[in-house]
Order: sequence, then structure tokens, then C-alpha cells
Amino acid sequence: MVYKKRKIKVFRARKKKESIDVVIENLKKDYEKIDPSAIEKFEDFPLSAPTLKGLKENKYYVPTEIQRESIGYSLRGEDILGAAKTGSGKTLAFLIPVLELLYCNKWTRAEGLAAIIITPTRELAYQIFETLRKIGIHHDFSAGLIIGGKDLKFERKRLDQCNIMICTPGRLLQHMDENPLFDCSNMLVLVLDEADRCLDMGFESTMNGIIENLPPERQTILFSATQTKSVRDLARLSLSNPHFINVHETSEHSTPAGLVQSYMVCELHDKMSLLWSFIKNHLHHKVLVFMSSCKQIKYFYEILCKLRPGTSLLALYGTMHQTKRMAVYESFCRKSRAVLFATDIAARGLDFPAVNWVVQLDCPENANEYIHRAGRTARFQKSGEALLVLLPSEIAILDQLENKKIPIKEIKANPNKLISIQRTLEATLAKDHILKESAQRAFVAYIKSVFLMKDKSVFNVEALDTDAFARSLGLAIPPRVRFLQKWKKSREAKVKAKELEDHTLATSLNEQLNNSDYSEEEPESDHSYRKDSYKFHEDDNSEEENDELLTIKRKDHNIPEADSLEENIDLELLNDTNKKKKKPLTKAAVAKKMIKKLIKPNQKTVFDETGEAVLDGAKTKVSQLAREYENSNNFGGINIEEAKQMLREEDVFDKQLFREKVKAKHREEKRKAKEEAKRAEMEDASSSDEASVDLSWLPDPDKVYGKRDSAESDENESEHDSQSGSDVSVEESDDEEVSQLHRPSKRKLLTSNSDKKRRRIQDVDEPVDTGLSLMEDEELALQMLDS
Ligand code: ADP
Ligand code: MG
Repeated sequence: MVYKKRKIKVFRARKKKESIDVVIENLKKDYEKIDPSAIEKFEDFPLSAPTLKGLKENKYYVPTEIQRESIGYSLRGEDILGAAKTGSGKTLAFLIPVLELLYCNKWTRAEGLAAIIITPTRELAYQIFETLRKIGIHHDFSAGLIIGGKDLKFERKRLDQCNIMICTPGRLLQHMDENPLFDCSNMLVLVLDEADRCLDMGFESTMNGIIENLPPERQTILFSATQTKSVRDLARLSLSNPHFINVHETSEHSTPAGLVQSYMVCELHDKMSLLWSFIKNHLHHKVLVFMSSCKQIKYFYEILCKLRPGTSLLALYGTMHQTKRMAVYESFCRKSRAVLFATDIAARGLDFPAVNWVVQLDCPENANEYIHRAGRTARFQKSGEALLVLLPSEIAILDQLENKKIPIKEIKANPNKLISIQRTLEATLAKDHILKESAQRAFVAYIKSVFLMKDKSVFNVEALDTDAFARSLGLAIPPRVRFLQKWKKSREAKVKAKELEDHTLATSLNEQLNNSDYSEEEPESDHSYRKDSYKFHEDDNSEEENDELLTIKRKDHNIPEADSLEENIDLELLNDTNKKKKKPLTKAAVAKKMIKKLIKPNQKTVFDETGEAVLDGAKTKVSQLAREYENSNNFGGINIEEAKQMLREEDVFDKQLFREKVKAKHREEKRKAKEEAKRAEMEDASSSDEASVDLSWLPDPDKVYGKRDSAESDENESEHDSQSGSDVSVEESDDEEVSQLHRPSKRKLLTSNSDKKRRRIQDVDEPVDTGLSLMEDEELALQMLDS
């Protein structure tokens, strides 16, 4: 019977296994028959039961356009370049095929990494991770969120068990470089969400590093609302015959249908008041405000919180602590009315539910960035509004928006509704110097951001009325913008140099025309002249050499005057062709450098108060041989024989040092023992004294011998007082004893030999040995008294 049961079990298990194989086989067969136009529900796709169940449970029944069009190709294992408007469901378009690919390959946890999903921001990675968790709940795969700002050690240990990894580029490369448990050799699929952003120059070197490490035999899926078609970008990914699926290519607009878009032209110094008025007029809305720099957001958030607008304010920017970032992200997701100030880290992919307004307080970098920012509202068949605030000098961007099929209309602010808060800001900053510094930083950060923008037809730093802008932030005195001053100076110098160069060239040409003898020195002098002018430029800035350099993380900025700034601005700013490729810093290179510069690693020098180096006897070498050995720059390796010899020499000194230490210790112990013995003796003596002074049982001498005259007693008392003072009680009791013994009446009573002796002793004031101890003496005296 038992045998029979077992047999059935085995049979069932085999049947189950076979049936999974059959299911997978059937699914794969159906992949070929997928016709997007015939798909109405997710169930019409040949998807596994766990995926369908996960979708259903999360109320995903009908696929969106991009899902319908792309999932078939993705399931067939083809490379995809997917493009669809913001909020159109691209996330599921790549998550469903990822799950199916693992399912059809019967991937188990033990088989390691199968899919890598890369996104440009941590919040987006988290959002995708959450969606995957929801729809993949009935699968048995493990997923990992690998983003910066988290515990690297924790991630390290877990990484080998991860089947689907959702990550940001920097952190992924870090694991590839540093984590021995990272193994992507078996991976099946790579997904880039917001692909154009992942592949742009900001992430260029990181992505190149990542792609180098990936196996070439893999499926690659790219999605974005503004898909890249750059051959250069795509070549890096070595796509094989990719399908370009742009579901909204033929639609009238590139932004969602439910999005109402408008722009407003506003002076820079009115922006603060405009923002405040906007918030006050939309207290019951969920608003997302984009600004260009972290420091601006920090200041705007801090100061506006102080003014208590009547709605909750939040801030999200890159330099924030990760835990705070996540808390803010989740908080804004939850809230139905709030204002979130954010940099472009919130521009891509984030699906905050029910955002009513997106305000772009600072002009976006380009039309694509505009689309992504505005796309945080009016997501998935919902409606929303977007407001773009432009400076008069920035209206050139409108042409770009038009070219991108973005419908946007001008609106004007109602001057009656604009509330100026400049005075309030001034008053607040006057009281709070920390806020004032924050305002100063915000001021400089904004100017810097405009200066660094690539498109100079839109962004003109010289068109900014910086003084008025500073005042609008509440700053009475506009802060110095050093980099701008430097830039202007260097540009002037360059113009002058150019003029002089032209002039010299013209003169030399004239001379050549006049003089038939051609002098070869001319170009050289020209060159030397340029050198001089360059030198002048260098000297000019030398005193401010240590000022902050302009460094930006994103490197896709091309500044026309960049060559004139090379002394002031980090070379990373320059465009691709000018950019000098930096060699990666390897450990070997560092070691070589150290050998060359004679740097001794792990050496600690302690200095005393006078600035002199304090030598640690235990660590510094004493013997002549050891010193010679140390100074012989033996960085290339260790000569064992020499080292042994040196250690033997050092050992002699070490032993000597040890002996001295032991001796000193013994000496100290002896000294302590002596002190202890002395103290014990003293204590014995004093305790015996104390025991001997109890004479209370004696008859009162005044009663026996009558009262002495008062003068004598006063004298004695005062004498006693002056003797005893306020000193310790042992001495006091001694004095008392002495004073009692000095009483002439009592003295008469002391008739024993020993007492006589003692009196003699006191008279001559010399210590005399009675042959008995003090206690014995006392005892004797008492006995005699008794008798
Ligand atoms: P995109 O990446 O294109 O900007 P998302 O993938 O973030 O868009 O999806 C936008 C919103 O649409 C999300 O809230 C998502 O839950 C929802 N969504 C996506 N696909 C579907 C679907 N098939 N049915 C219902 N809602 C969907
Ligand atoms: Mg998305």
C-alpha cells in the first residue's frame, strides 16, 4: 500500500513537470501568432498563469497601446526600442515580458541574475520594483533594488540570490567592480527605462562600463517617452535588428491628451512672488514645482515653510539623504494636496498619483525635458495642467516646443492677484543669518545653472538682472558671483588678444607686401604674443585659484566660449571632442605614484604642543642597520635576509627596552609596598593612641582639688584653642592629653616611675625609650591609679 502511494506521487510529480514543459512549449508556440490588433485583454496574450493572476489582482485587465504593440515582440525575444507618451504604461510593457522570459526558461532562484533593469533615478527604480512586486507576486523569482544611498554591504550579500535587478547605473557599476558575488554571465535581458536619459552624456562613462561587463548574447529593451534614435547611442548597446515601436508617432501631439499646457512670461525678480501667489491660489491642489538647482529648492522650501502658506510643502532633490528622499517621495504619493519642490530627479518616470499641476518655475533644458516634467500630471487617461514660467530672454524655447508637437498657450498673470513677499523675506533674512546664507547660495546656484545650460539661444546669463533677482530673494546686497566675474574678465582678455592678433597679422602682411624678404620669425612672435596674453589671463586669476570650480555632474553641455574658460572651469564641461579622456585610476597606478613620490603608507606622526614630532619608541627603528634599511626605499618588495638581519638588530634594542620597563615596574612596586607599610604603621600608632585616651572614668580634678583661678583657666583655654586650631581630631586629642598632663594637680597623682620618666621626657623635650610600648605604659599608669 505504502509502495503504491509512493508510486502515484512520483507519477504525479512527473506529470506536473511534464505539464509545465508542455505549457511553456504551448506558450512559446503562441508567441508567433500574436497579433496586436486582435488583443483586447491581457488574457489574449499567451501569458503564464502567475502573471495573468498578478495582473488581474492589481486590476490590470486591458493593455494600453504600447503594451499591446510591444509585448508580442518582446516575448519573442527581439530587441525593442519602445516610445510612447508619458503615463501610457511603458512599465508593464517591459515587466510582463521579463517575468515571462524567466518563467519560460524555468529560472530558479539558484540560477542567479537573469534580468537587469536600469533607470536614471533611485525613486524610479523603487517605483518599478514596487510594480514588479505587485504583478509578480505569484512567481517564485527574487528581485533586488540596487540603488545608491543604501547599505552596500547588505546588498552585496544578497546579490547572488537576485534574479531580477532594478538599479541605477552608478550603483550597478559599483557592484560590477567591487562585488565578487556579482555574476551576470547568464543574464537573459537588459532593460533601460528612460533609455535616452540613461544613454545621454551624463551617464556615458558609467553605461559604457556596464555594457562592457554584460554578455553580448542577450535581449535588450529600451523605453522612453522621448526615445533616442541616435545611432551612436544605440551602437553602444549592440542591438540586433531592433524594432522601433512608437505608438504615438502619428498622433497630433506628443504630450498626453488630458494635459492642458500654458506658459507665462515673467521677470526673474517676480518669480518668487509668482510662486507664492500660485501656492496661495491652489491650496487644495497637488502641485509639483520644478526648479533648476538643489540649493534653490532648499531655500524656497525653508523660507516658504516659515511663511506658512496653508498647505504642506515638500522638497525633493539629489543632495538629500536617501532615507529623507524616500520619505518625501512616499509622502507626496500619499497626499491629495501638497506642493513638492523638485529638481529634475523627479522629472522622469515618476507616477505620483493625481497631480493637478506641474509648474516649471525655471525653464527646462530642452523640449524633451519639458515633456518629461509636464508628464508628471495627466497620467493614464487622467487630466492635469502644466505651467511653464519663462524669462523674456527664454522665449526661444517655444519654437522647440512647437517643433515637438507640444500644444502650449500663453497666459498672463493677474497683477491684482500677485502678492509681493519681498519685504517679508527681507525681514526674515535680517533675523536669520542661516536662511540668508541659504538665499545667497540659491542665488549663485541659479545663475550657475543658467550659465551652464547648453542651449545659448535660450539661456543667456548676461540677460539676467541679478541685482533685482537678489532683492526678490530677500537679499539686501547681491552676493558676488565670482565665476561670472572671471568669465567676463577672461572673455574681455580674449577679445583684446584677438584684436591685437588681427592687428599684428595685418601689420605683418603689410610688411610682407612692402618687404620682399619674408621673415620666418613673424609667426613665432605672434605665437609668443598669444602666450603672453594667456599668461596675463592666468595671472589675473591666480589669486582666486582656489575658488570653487564649476563642476557639473551632467556633461552634455557645450559652452561656445569654453576655451576661454579652461583655466576656470573643469575640463569636464567641454563637449565631447574637446574632452580629454581620463585614464581610470588603478591600484597599480596609485602604487607606482607612491613609490615615485616616496610616500610611506599607513604612517602616523604625532606632534607635541611645540610642533615637534613625537617619536614612538616602540614603532621607530633604533638600530643603525634598521634605519639604513628603512631609508633604502625598498618599495618593490622585501629582501628576506636583510629584513631578518634588521629585525635581529632591532630585537636587541627591544629586549633592552623591555628590561628597563620591567625594572621600572619593580621599582614602582617596591616604592608602593614601602609606602603601604608606612601608612599601616602610622594607622596602628594612631589607633593605639586613641584607645588610650579614654579617661572619662577619672574623678573630676576640679571637684577633688577645687577650682583654679579664672585667669589661669582662660589663659589655658586660649592656649589650647591656639594649639588645637581647626586641625584633625587625632592631633586635637593629643593636645588634650598634653594639656591634661600639664595640669599641676593631676601631675601630683602621677607618681609611678614610668610617669616620672615621662615627665622627665617632656621636660627635656626629647623622645626617650621606656622599654615598654605606649599602651603598656598607659596600662601600668592606670593600674597604679586604680590601686
Ligand atoms: P509610463 O512609464 O509610460 O510613463 P507607467 O508605466 O508609469 O507609464 O504607467 C502610468 C500609470 O498607468 C500607472 O499608474 C499604471 O499603474 C497605469 N497603467 C499602466 N498600464 C495599465 C493598464 N493596462 N491598465 C490600467 N492602468 C495601467
Ligand atoms: Mg515610465
